[in-house]
Amino acid sequence: MVDISAITGAITALKSANDIAQAMVGLRDAAAFQSKLIEFQNKIIEANASAFAAQDERAELLRKIADLDKQVEKLTAEKRKFDRYQLKDFGGNSFAYELKASEANGEPIHRACATCFQDERISILQFSHQSEGQDWYTCPRCKEPQHFGAHVRRESYRSHHSDF
Ligand SMILES: [Zn+2]
Repeated sequence: MVDISAITGAITALKSANDIAQAMVGLRDAAAFQSKLIEFQNKIIEANASAFAAQDERAELLRKIADLDKQVEKLTAEKRKFDRYQLKDFGGNSFAYELKASEANGEPIHRACATCFQDERISILQFSHQSEGQDWYTCPRCKEPQHFGAHVRRESYRSHHSDF
């Protein structure tokens, strides 16, 4: 955390130096004048030191701004990547993210794992096989098997297929 007290310190010291200079104008006594002059010079040195500290604070602030700019740029690019996908129901409340056709840019339309997507990772699902009316996919990242489409129970599947 940057504190910006140095510039306040410089201003305060300069104000004091100004007050001392005003007081010096009316002084006739050489010894009193000399004493005020030393006081004045000390305040100028103090203001100078504060100005240097303020310069350092400014440089640190500029560095932090540059860092934040970079972070914003990175997050914006990251967000753009996720905006290319939309959540889709593939039947029977089975969800995955799908690449929008308008964002494909030559890539084939594919599905991305909804679980990984919530973890801010885009993991392309790979088709595995079909079973009980569903398309089975696997996620290479979280290894979670994903079933899409309405599930047809084996029992009802059997009743319709007497050869089971
Ligand atoms: Zn996953």
